Amino acid sequence: MSRYLSPTLQDLVPYTPGDIPRRRSVLKLNTNENPYPPPTPVIEAVRRVADRLQLYPDPNCLKLRQAAAEYYELEPDQIMAGNGSDENLFFALRAFCDAGRPLARPDVTYGCYGVWCGLMHIPQHIIPLEKDFTLDPTRYYDLNETIVIANPNAPTGLALPPEAIGEIAARNPDGVVIVDEAYVDFGARSCVPLIRDHENLLVVQTFSKSRQMAGARLGFAMGNKELIADLERVRNSLNPYNVNQMTQAAGIASLQCEGYFRETCRQVIETREWAAQELVRRGFVVTDSRANFLFARTPKMLSRVLFRELRQRAVLVRYFDEPRTEHWLRITVGTKEQMEILLQRLDKILKEA
Ligand SMILES: *Cc1c(COP(=O)(O)O)cnc(C)c1O
Repeated sequence: MSRYLSPTLQDLVPYTPGDIPRRRSVLKLNTNENPYPPPTPVIEAVRRVADRLQLYPDPNCLKLRQAAAEYYELEPDQIMAGNGSDENLFFALRAFCDAGRPLARPDVTYGCYGVWCGLMHIPQHIIPLEKDFTLDPTRYYDLNETIVIANPNAPTGLALPPEAIGEIAARNPDGVVIVDEAYVDFGARSCVPLIRDHENLLVVQTFSKSRQMAGARLGFAMGNKELIADLERVRNSLNPYNVNQMTQAAGIASLQCEGYFRETCRQVIETREWAAQELVRRGFVVTDSRANFLFARTPKMLSRVLFRELRQRAVLVRYFDEPRTEHWLRITVGTKEQMEILLQRLDKILKEA
């Protein structure tokens, strides 16, 4: 820390992303990336626009938003594109929270929400999940604060039905309800169809997890056109060229690869269910994950130790050293072959212990 850093930022605790290994041989199951490559049309679309790098991209992402509007059955002015969901979520907190309007969120959820509140000095109303990590919607009734819910939640993987989120939105007419659907394509139901009935509902989706595009940085915020106009106001006050032209082209192509999208999601779900059973057979407890990761613990070994042992054997998973998650590991669902390697190494570690 230099002596020039603003005193208002000296207590800020930044987000710690999962490790990026230098060796390719490491089994990387720590950041919920998709184990499959992007479909060929996406790669070709990127190549086609790469020779126009001297030009700025379309700041309004018009073609991309038109393609997305058709895909999600919305109007283009109900959609904003961002540099990943992280950017859209940040814009949403900037637009809809302030010193007098706290952010309500679960205690166990995506870590960035709390970090952004720290950065922007937004007070937080932290609402504990139940003992079994389920979210009781009634705890979110009549708050009239800005609310963010990851659905499915991270790192628990548990999902609420859209009806429960719709009810939370109905019970908070004076607050925006942000639904972070980063993992929705892996077996949960989306709240996008509820946008028409709830003017305070903002749904955020990303191409990072289910569309093989974590490296391209693309996400959509979707909601009624006034909410989206508010987000555009913030976006255009920071970085109007936030989505580069290769990513815009890749996004359009991705939306046209419905078959590949569905098939790879199906494979991840199938592998998740198989790997969950295999873990349970070995005495692990797993949550009912609807995401592309498993949240698991074993009574046989401290998760902190198991995390380290796996890392020594070139397997990266995620460990969150916080009161309610310290006994758990979050394991990204890879290909079946990758999960077989994970299980082999787990068996070895547990046998030697
Ligand atoms: C991965 C993730 C994000 C961020 O996604 P990007 O589009 O890559 O920025 C947001 N929310 C949750 C819950 C996530 O898991």
